[in-house]
Amino acid sequence: MKLEKFSMGIGDRFGHQGRAQLAAFVTAAGRGVHVTPVWNKSNREHLIVHSEPAAVRTEADDAVKALGWKSSYRVDADHIGIKTVDRFLPVSDFFTIDVADFIGKPTSEPGVENVIRLLEKTGLRPDIPHVSARFELTHDKINAIAAKYLAAVKEAGRVYRHIENARGRGNFITEVSMDETDRPQTPEDLLVILAALATEGIPVQTIAPKFTGRFNKGVDYQGDLAIFEREFNDDLAVVAFAVRHFGLPEELKLSVHSGSDKFSIYAPINKAVKRMNCGLHLKTAGTTWLEEIASLAAVGGDGLAFAREVYAGALDHFDELCAPYATVIDIDRKALPSVEKVNSLPGDAFAAMIRHNPHHAAYNPSVRQLLHVGYKLAANAGTRYTSLLHHYAEPIGRSVTENILDRHLLRIFA
Ligand SMILES: [Zn+2]
Repeated sequence: MKLEKFSMGIGDRFGHQGRAQLAAFVTAAGRGVHVTPVWNKSNREHLIVHSEPAAVRTEADDAVKALGWKSSYRVDADHIGIKTVDRFLPVSDFFTIDVADFIGKPTSEPGVENVIRLLEKTGLRPDIPHVSARFELTHDKINAIAAKYLAAVKEAGRVYRHIENARGRGNFITEVSMDETDRPQTPEDLLVILAALATEGIPVQTIAPKFTGRFNKGVDYQGDLAIFEREFNDDLAVVAFAVRHFGLPEELKLSVHSGSDKFSIYAPINKAVKRMNCGLHLKTAGTTWLEEIASLAAVGGDGLAFAREVYAGALDHFDELCAPYATVIDIDRKALPSVEKVNSLPGDAFAAMIRHNPHHAAYNPSVRQLLHVGYKLAANAGTRYTSLLHHYAEPIGRSVTENILDRHLLRIFA
């Protein structure tokens, strides 16, 4: 099973927007921008909203049928490990094997020697087309990097083989993710990691490193754009080199996690991908939930009342909601308006605070991030929330489609 050149992961916390999300891919395809939709949901998300992996498969299949989508689509078991993968096995055909927790862990398993031997074939000063500066490797350097990532690669191998046993070789897409960690991986790290994945026999099709800078939830990229661009270009060059020399699948590509709403890096990403004529996977989650809550605020009445309630609840449970996301949010508490202030605003004004329009004077990235992590409160509201989704399906769906199409697909892949 191959993954197409361009693919985008779309999360849908509450499972109601599959058709609205797919409508964006249909329109993009009509304009010549062909991107494979991948519905992703992590185990953590399933636990918080009390959903089952089978529901994501049903949502995707329904949307595809309803819209007559003839191209391929995937269902991603996002950020799984050996303990959480089993209930995804019957329904997912894309697996994001998350081994970030194993980075830097000691292991007594052999493997470093094989990585060094593979890298020696292309030399300690490998000739990698398009990198910003020639890599200067040494045996010590390779040894140190391989040792740091070996436990993670070995774990990825265990999880991969577990999935392969259940689904059969070639019947699923394999992604390996290392993004949920504190320190970014350099292009040199990536080269060694890909060599290690190759020696472990993992036919990895997408790899999600941690890039430099902050990838905060639902808001723009924070970091040095020039450094990001150089690193991203080098990473693309390394991936192409690894495909050619390490025997990895020819469609192997980078996966950008927490990729939603990173407007300032879309242009450099688009440019780099075109220059290399390579593929890309961009994974998003949560941006659709924010469209739901912003649209409810805008419709007024019971929708606005619910949005206000979620905001008040999120302020009340600030620490509890933010703790699991500490490394991926930066909320300025002083920038958060009081409940009284928010309750005095008309729906449009509250929605403008939430919607990701950086040029709008009312846009408030702290409010947006707080509501991003506040989806648990809507989950706890159960059918009260989902009946609002049904009742206002039309305006919400319009916003969901527009967000995926105009702010994401056409900026990244066109
Ligand atoms: Zn991730």
